[in-house]
Amino acid sequence: MTQTSKTRLTHPLFGPSAWRTLRFRFAFWVGSLLLVTQLIMGAFVYVRLQSRLLDTVDDSLRLNAVQIRAVVEAQEGMIAAPDSTDYSSLSADLQEQSLTARILSPQGEILQAFGIYRDISVNPSVIETVQRHRERLLTIADPNEIDENLRIFAVPILHQGELVGIVEVTQTLDSVNDTLEQLLVLFQLGVPVSVVIAALGGYELASRALSRVDRITAMAHRISAENLSARLDLPATNDEVGRLATMFDLMLDRLDASFQRERQFTADASHELRTPLAATRTILDTIRSRRRTVEEYEHALDDLADETIRLQNLVADLLHLARNDTAVTSTLEVIDLSALLQDITESLRPLAESKGLRFLSTVADGLSIVGDRDQLIRLFVNLLDNAIKFTDTGEIRIGGETGPKNLLKITVADTGRGISAEHLSHIFDRFYRIDRSRTTVGTGLGLALALSIARAHGGTIKVESDVGKGSEFIVWLYVDSLRS
Ligand code: ADP
Repeated sequence: MTQTSKTRLTHPLFGPSAWRTLRFRFAFWVGSLLLVTQLIMGAFVYVRLQSRLLDTVDDSLRLNAVQIRAVVEAQEGMIAAPDSTDYSSLSADLQEQSLTARILSPQGEILQAFGIYRDISVNPSVIETVQRHRERLLTIADPNEIDENLRIFAVPILHQGELVGIVEVTQTLDSVNDTLEQLLVLFQLGVPVSVVIAALGGYELASRALSRVDRITAMAHRISAENLSARLDLPATNDEVGRLATMFDLMLDRLDASFQRERQFTADASHELRTPLAATRTILDTIRSRRRTVEEYEHALDDLADETIRLQNLVADLLHLARNDTAVTSTLEVIDLSALLQDITESLRPLAESKGLRFLSTVADGLSIVGDRDQLIRLFVNLLDNAIKFTDTGEIRIGGETGPKNLLKITVADTGRGISAEHLSHIFDRFYRIDRSRTTVGTGLGLALALSIARAHGGTIKVESDVGKGSEFIVWLYVDSLRS
């Protein structure tokens, strides 16, 4: 079983390293954040509600205590004995609100009491506080019911600054506790459910987004130099993953094209290298098949020298081309291009004149460029060499001037055989030669090399040609390709 199919069989949620997957971590974070937020919110709501409910209870206790005190005080400090005072209207009111009210003596004896908690023992802290003429509010455990609380409010009854009695009102807090308990139950159910839903939703969302990333990973796993034709072809979406997928496909396109070019180049190079080697072999076999005359040996040696030169040129061009592809313009300097072109022209003039060709130069003075001297020499020597090679009568003209936008324009024109339209678009291809017979010297790499040098200098080469009339190669170069 391959690594890929193994990976696919293990569901990421249950795999041994599930927690390391992005989708799991995303879900975990969504769930955790929601949990923390809900706990903080829940605690806040709980505390606020508890204090509001207690406030309501306290308000009602205070109101009732003050009302009872008003009734008692109206009797001018005389705390009535049981049934001598008419508390009946109050009693009905209190029962309706399920309140317990008691009137105590300053020492804490129960004088009057209504409601279900009328018999509970008097809390000493109530007496202690009220004896200091202060109100007292406290919560105690309900003696009748486990886990329930009572809220007690006590006020002093004063007559002429003297404590004559105590009004104590009591209410159970079970309704408050019930409400708070219901809220807790709601939280206990709601929080886990919403956290689980959010985490699952987060996991699903992340899975959807990342399934495309998984496809890219699987594709990257499958791709090798031999198989660059596969593409993701995911539906184009303008999100992060969509753009990644599109860029991935475009990168594969470029890699594919570049690998194909390299393969073609290697095939062409070996083919071209084979030809002079085969010719050398044939010459050697023929000459060694029997004894030869001195003239025949001399002739064979000349042929061998030709083939060796051809091989030497080819290897040199291949090397330059390979170097130019990788280390572009490695040694840059400011070059006086006018002087450089002058030197090249002068060194090639004898070759042109030996063929009876005129050599004219109209290069303007003071053209300068930041570039690689050796490469620029190679570029113009190649163009001029071709012009001389493919021209039988007439003239070769070399011109140079400044062009627009920091460009220099150098032209190499001849009155030679010209290039037909069908070949014009191919002459810059590597190994492309119009006349492939072995009588014309050349490797077909000269123009490819010239173009790659021009490009490395931020420029290009254009060509115009008329069959039978001549050709003009126009080289554009940036004055400073580094700053362009
Ligand atoms: P090579 O000169 O080594 O054959 P190049 O790449 O320099 O290779 O040129 C490719 C082909 O373009 C040449 O074989 C030739 O047929 C054609 N060519 C180049 N320059 C000229 C020119 N000035 N006049 C006519 N044909 C040319």
